Amino acid sequence: MALIVHKYGGTSMGSTDRIRNVAKRVAKWARAGHQMVVVPSAMSGETNRLLGLAKELSPATSSPELMRELDMIAATGEQVSVGLLAIALQAEGLEAVSYTGWQVPVQTDSSHTKARIESVDDAKVRADLAAGKVVVIAGFQGVDEEQNITTLGRGGSDTSAVAIAAAMKADECLIYTDVDGVYTTDPRIVPEARRLHTISFEEMLEMASLGSKILQIRSVEFAGKYRVPLRVLSSFTPWDIDINEEAKSGTLISFEEDEKMEQAVVSGIAFNRDEAKVTLLGVPDKPGIAFQILGPVADANIDVDVIIQNVSQDGKTDFSFTVHRNDYARAIELLEKTVGPAVQAAKVQGDQRICKVSIVGIGMRSHVGVASKMFRALSEEGINIQMISTSEIKTSVVIDEKYMELAVRALHKAFDLDQEVSA
Ligand code: ASP
Ligand code: MG
Repeated sequence: MALIVHKYGGTSMGSTDRIRNVAKRVAKWARAGHQMVVVPSAMSGETNRLLGLAKELSPATSSPELMRELDMIAATGEQVSVGLLAIALQAEGLEAVSYTGWQVPVQTDSSHTKARIESVDDAKVRADLAAGKVVVIAGFQGVDEEQNITTLGRGGSDTSAVAIAAAMKADECLIYTDVDGVYTTDPRIVPEARRLHTISFEEMLEMASLGSKILQIRSVEFAGKYRVPLRVLSSFTPWDIDINEEAKSGTLISFEEDEKMEQAVVSGIAFNRDEAKVTLLGVPDKPGIAFQILGPVADANIDVDVIIQNVSQDGKTDFSFTVHRNDYARAIELLEKTVGPAVQAAKVQGDQRICKVSIVGIGMRSHVGVASKMFRALSEEGINIQMISTSEIKTSVVIDEKYMELAVRALHKAFDLDQEVSA
């Protein structure tokens, strides 16, 4: 008998028929002898609908007072879900009880609309499980010290599920979603993309942050920190498939880098179209320049990703970095009005038509020549690399946006990702 957490996304909870299916699946797991905690999202589209209502009433976008009320409203989506699911479970003949975040409680900080979980009190949940109940807990929400309802940011139910699994020391947290696992890259771009049976949590972190939008990135951070075994699997398989088969399906995100992991050097190709590049041309190459440029950028709350500085010629150098496209206009303005003149830059340039393509794999730690293989594959396609950045387990390049799909396909092929790796 194991303690298992199931998380169901909005699509899986999208109608009463689908909720009935979720209940049947959970009932199958409970009847197999497992203690079950279930964390659903709001029914699909519901969170958008609720936030849309608020928007109709207020032009304000981010006052603290407004944010508090947005959480109040958005959290009701999941409250409906847990109640419906508990009823559906009862209709299946199980004992089931639902809780909102504040009833557990799931304690968070006070950053409304993007709160962080601080602790989860498992006492009530444990007592219910011991009494033979299935416990259904609202995802996406918590409560702060002053009893304000908070939410965890869009997609936050993943993080709720993992945090609850961590607090309960669950044997596994299963994230049921509308894809059947984590792929070597987006199958819409590369039809030969393959589902990974396992991926290390570090790789998943890179894949998630690089734009594979399967899991909220914080949930992966949480899983890594508390060593929660996490599995992403499809909620569209028939609910009555064999439980052992289901338990092995999807992709396991593991923190055990043992022989069982697929031994590929590169596990996946990630890409991201959300960035833009800005450049300061002809800045003096002297101590303090990088700080003089990036300090004000950080103060303006603009996140910087890839950074490069050229070797200087005649004491002058060029300095480029990427920012989120949403911050592009603000970054350019800041550079043109204050930072550029302050560092005596000759010119400010920008380019929004870029993308970042990355190869990710823990095998890169112990293999040489991985980056050069990447660069060769890109050069064979005539793709110019504008910027490069590396970490222990990834290499990213910034290229012209119009070559993104070509680059992803070429790299997928160059690293044989369409081929099953023998374990
Ligand atoms: N319902 C919330 C959202 O739409 C949380 C979630 O689905 O994970 O963002
Ligand atoms: Mg989601």
